[in-house]
Amino acid sequence: MGIVIKERKDRRRQERIPADFSVFSRNTGKIVGRAVNLSTEGLFIETSDDYKKGTKLLLECALASDSIPVKAYCVVKRTESNGTGPLGIGVEIVNIYDSDRNKLQKYIEESQKKLNSDDYYLSDFTDIPDQDLFKKTEVFWQYKLDMESKGYIRYRRPLASPSAHRVIIDDDFTGKKKEMIMMGSNNYLGLTSHPEAKKKAQEIINKYGVGAGSVPLLAGTFDIHRKLELKLAKLKGCEDAIIFPSGYVTNLGCIQALVRNQDVAIIDRLSHASIIDGCLISSGTFRTFKHSDVESLENTLKRAEGNYQGKIVIVDGVYSMDGDIAPLRQITDVAHRYGAKIMVDEAHATGVIGERGKGTPGYFKMKPGEIDIVMGTLSKSLGGVGGFIASTKEVVNYLRYYTRSFFFSSNFPPSVAASVIAAMDVMERDESLHKNLWNNIKYFKESLKSLGFNTAHTESAIIPVMIGDELTQKQMSRRMHEEGIYVNAIPHPAVPKGQERFRFSVMATHTREDLDRTLEVTEKLGREYGIIPKTVSLSVVKDEKYNVREISSREEIEKSVKFSWKVYEEYPAWVPYFLIKDHVKLISYDYHYFRKVYGKRFVVEEDGEIVGTVSAFIDSYYNNYHNTRAGFLGFFEALFGKEHAVAKLLQQAEQFLVREGAETILGPVNGIFGLFGGGLLSSNYGKTPSFLQIYSQPYYHDYFRSAGLSPAKKLLHYTIDLKSQENIKAIKEYAQSIPLPELKIRKINKSDWKSEVRSVVRIFNESLAQLWGNVPFDYEEFVEFADEFKSLIDPEFWLMAEVEGEAIGFVGGFPQYASVFRDLDGKINTKSIVKLPFQMRGIKDGVLMIMGLTDKYKGKKIGTVLLSKACEAMMKKGYERVAGTWILEENIGSRRIVENLGGKVDLHWEMYEKSPGSVVTNDS
Ligand code: PLP
Repeated sequence: MGIVIKERKDRRRQERIPADFSVFSRNTGKIVGRAVNLSTEGLFIETSDDYKKGTKLLLECALASDSIPVKAYCVVKRTESNGTGPLGIGVEIVNIYDSDRNKLQKYIEESQKKLNSDDYYLSDFTDIPDQDLFKKTEVFWQYKLDMESKGYIRYRRPLASPSAHRVIIDDDFTGKKKEMIMMGSNNYLGLTSHPEAKKKAQEIINKYGVGAGSVPLLAGTFDIHRKLELKLAKLKGCEDAIIFPSGYVTNLGCIQALVRNQDVAIIDRLSHASIIDGCLISSGTFRTFKHSDVESLENTLKRAEGNYQGKIVIVDGVYSMDGDIAPLRQITDVAHRYGAKIMVDEAHATGVIGERGKGTPGYFKMKPGEIDIVMGTLSKSLGGVGGFIASTKEVVNYLRYYTRSFFFSSNFPPSVAASVIAAMDVMERDESLHKNLWNNIKYFKESLKSLGFNTAHTESAIIPVMIGDELTQKQMSRRMHEEGIYVNAIPHPAVPKGQERFRFSVMATHTREDLDRTLEVTEKLGREYGIIPKTVSLSVVKDEKYNVREISSREEIEKSVKFSWKVYEEYPAWVPYFLIKDHVKLISYDYHYFRKVYGKRFVVEEDGEIVGTVSAFIDSYYNNYHNTRAGFLGFFEALFGKEHAVAKLLQQAEQFLVREGAETILGPVNGIFGLFGGGLLSSNYGKTPSFLQIYSQPYYHDYFRSAGLSPAKKLLHYTIDLKSQENIKAIKEYAQSIPLPELKIRKINKSDWKSEVRSVVRIFNESLAQLWGNVPFDYEEFVEFADEFKSLIDPEFWLMAEVEGEAIGFVGGFPQYASVFRDLDGKINTKSIVKLPFQMRGIKDGVLMIMGLTDKYKGKKIGTVLLSKACEAMMKKGYERVAGTWILEENIGSRRIVENLGGKVDLHWEMYEKSPGSVVTNDS
């Protein structure tokens, strides 16, 4: 095989070929061991018997290919041991009959011919140079045989039932029929076998027969085809539509017809293969831009200016491998600004995204006709086969005459048009389909995330589960199949190397039982193959006086949260945590953050009373993002003078994290109000906190140090004195300065909340997510807690910076609510919010919580201007101080901004860290 397949770089060439047969001693008749490699000169035998170098042995090799063993006179040349005992011996053949040497030779040749599929990627077989054109097919055949023998081939499993949520397949491996849960179909709304679609197709078969008989431009268009075109045009808000035999040839043909010699197509790097292939066969040029990166698109368009005639930007509405949605509005704006047309492939968006599944443009509330070309397929949500382009009547008409894949390929049967029309009617009429689909998507995705799986950035019915390695994926595929889950394994080259994944597709018709069973199997295999941490059951540290327990019931967790009341009883500045929120956060999956992490909560009791509590958890999202294996300690509280108890508590929590694979322990992270510090790792010790900040007792330092943790990073707290003349002068000067002529600073618009929050997340993720301890927010996660704060947000203190209509920065501040909330004893309700304006009257302090700027606008004084405007607004309200909080000590940019306005550091938080060594656990 070596001559035809490029050797993988990381594979060592071996003189000896791998072997696997038993070796016996002819003298004693007993087994010596198992041969693991072999040449005609010698072999290596794994054995736990002790042989001395130079020992002569008459060996019998039981080759599987021959019933009569091969005899060889050998001498031990090498011995291997692991320090405590022998591992094996290398022997040289000193004498062998010619017939036996020939047998060995034959065995070696046969083995060399066999290909170990584990060593190859599917993509290794595309380019095998050989005089014989078919050589590649022979080599690939060997690969397939080896894959089959290992049970790894899980492609093309023939269905023997409708493609519903449960299917029957012909199982090639057992030769029997098998029922499976279908998690791999694009039949998102379950319409492939809807009774109405079947009925209408049957009626049309009876009326028109089973084939179209010709290409559509000649004799192959039926009235029902035309009816379908008009219905599709209406669905997409376009003048007309043209249909094709498949979605693939739709893209292929449309791009080939429109993008000619002097033109350029600019496509997203993750565009579907049919878009790429369309570009390849077109006579024009094509360029790519970074996935969903509007700036990269703009740069590509800029570079294209003047070099081409016509320009078109092509994106997928929903990306078929990652399930994420293109930022279509921004992409369209940029494309149009540079005089380019925009085309969007709605294959996986139709039926799924936007109101009632009308698609991505609707999702972004774009007007009909804003997208120049909408491409779609009939083969996914619409339950049939084929593709379409919806556009202006002129474009559609042109395509009918100049698209080769249209006029050189026969139309699909009229019955398909009938079934698709019926499916569209059902989709438009039956709201519950779309609703069920989204309930299922949310449930399935959040459950996977809570188990710790990386589901990339999906926002649709396509839910990838990242595996990251083709061999593991093959092995897991086999097991998924055996467990009755029909899911597609996506290897390279369909996705980049290292991003191999399972691609689950959720349908409206999946039952909770289907999804739960799939989750159960995926969790089991995920743990077994190390994709998510292994579960561990911990034995409990028992002590006469102290008892560490893992708690999980709602009542116990509530009790552990209420424990804070005891810790801070005497602490004058303490504002009680919002108890209800904390409950939700700590024990249910209602909060995004806790759907993403996996962990346990512990208490330590002294004579049955809680004296300390801590949560220990693994945040796979954090670990994947930072490529690390961290475990967090958090929500820590303990009474004074309980060193021994706390040591046991922290030891137990640490053991859990280490068993779950943590190599670094970080903490403490704490929950405050609805904000979690999902990545915002902070703790202040013994200082009076501001609104939304964290409480802790000064003695917590000692507890953490005693547990072997040491300070890792500081987060700074600044105060700007708004009474100081010097500061007032700086604030006023900056507030009036204009660092960029096109810069506009405005208040946040709470009535356009969703889009404002989206801008804030985007800027936050670009600006702060890379900082130590932070992770990018997912949009939904951010929305969740932004919604919680919406009623507390005063738009005077939340300012957005815009350049040419695009938000590029923000600052977010609050009044110092802490004093108001102090009296609520942890209970927040609508009544207390209503009373807020009255209680606010005495407030003289403000808190500036977060601030972000996109990279391009950093270092231009925009941050200082934003902050000065927020300070000015606070001054106008008669505030005397404003606190700038949680500024990471190494975030020089932010520090400078606050210092420009006279900010002084007056306290800091410390984040602790530890790299645990091997941990001795009492049950190991
Ligand atoms: N476009 C995208 C984004 C797709 O995912 C697919 C199909 O898988 C196609 C086009 C091609 O559609 P069809 O399967 O109908 O040929």
